[in-house]
Amino acid sequence: MKAVKYKIGRDDLAKEYLKLLDVEDLKAKVDGYNLSLDIEDVLIGDITTLVKCRNAYLEHTELKKRCVKDFDYDKHSGAIAEFFIKYVDTSTCHYCDMAYINTYIDSDDNNRRVFELDHYIPRSECPLLALSLFNLVPSCQYCNQRIKHSKKSALNDEELIACCPTYENYHFEEDVQILPIPMDINALNYNPDTSKQLKHFRVRFFGPDIYQSHIKELKLEDRYQYHLCEALRMKDKCDRYTKGKIDELSKLLDLPSYTLRDNILGPVTIRKEDALGIEFDAEYKRTMAKFRKDTYNIYYPEDK
Ligand SMILES: [Zn+2]
Repeated sequence: MKAVKYKIGRDDLAKEYLKLLDVEDLKAKVDGYNLSLDIEDVLIGDITTLVKCRNAYLEHTELKKRCVKDFDYDKHSGAIAEFFIKYVDTSTCHYCDMAYINTYIDSDDNNRRVFELDHYIPRSECPLLALSLFNLVPSCQYCNQRIKHSKKSALNDEELIACCPTYENYHFEEDVQILPIPMDINALNYNPDTSKQLKHFRVRFFGPDIYQSHIKELKLEDRYQYHLCEALRMKDKCDRYTKGKIDELSKLLDLPSYTLRDNILGPVTIRKEDALGIEFDAEYKRTMAKFRKDTYNIYYPEDK
C-alpha cells in the first residue's frame, strides 16, 4: 500500500543496521550451511535478493532448527525496534493505511512505538531471513498477525517482489486505485443522508493482476468496506463544491481557490502552504489518505 520511507540513504542505513549484529559470527554460521550465500545479501539485500536467499533455503529446510537458533529475532527485537524508531518514517500502516503506526516520547523521555515489525517473508517459512533489514515492514497489529497466521506467503516470486513495501521499485500506490463503486441504480440518486447510500456501494481495488493476491491475502476490500463513508463524504463534497462554485466563493471571499478547496475538501494534494510547513504533508500522515485522494481524483476532475 505505502512504500517504507527511510530517513537516511539505503547504503548508510544498511551500514548502521549491521552495527546491531555480530556479522562475523552470522557469516561463519551461514558459511556452515553450504548454501553459497553471502551474509550481506541475507542481512541487507533488497527484496529481489531476499527471494533468491529464500529459494536457496527452501531446498534445504533440514537447516530449519539451526537457522531459528542462529537468526534469533527475539534476541535482537529491542535493538531493531529502536533502530526503526530512529531511521524509519512512520505514520500509517504500510499494508493497509487504515491504522496509525507512530512513535512518541513518554513522560520519562523514552522513545515508544505504536507499531509492530512484520516479517514480510514469514519467519516460519524462512527463519534465515528473520534479521534481514528489508524483510521488516512496520505495520499495524492486525496486518502483522494476519500474515503471521499464514505460515507461508500465498504469493509467487514475482508478486512477492512487486508487493513488498521496502522494494525500491514499489509502485502499488501509483498503480492501484481504491474506489467506491455504485452497485445499483439507487447509488446514483442523490441522497442528502449519506449513511443511506452506504449499502449501494462496494469498495474495489483496481490495478494490475500482480497485486491482487496480496490485496486478497490482507482482505483489504472487505476491511475498507467498513470505511466506505470516508469516500462517500469526499464524493458528496466533490458533488456539492464544484470547481465553478469554489471559484465563485474565492472571488467573494478574496481567498485563493486552492486554499478554499483544501479547506472544504481536505488537503488532497501536497501543499507547500500547509499550516505545519512543507516537511509535514498532513494528508499523507493521516489514515486512508489514498482512499480519499483516489475518490477525489475520480469525482473532482480539474475541468469540472
Ligand atoms: Zn495494517
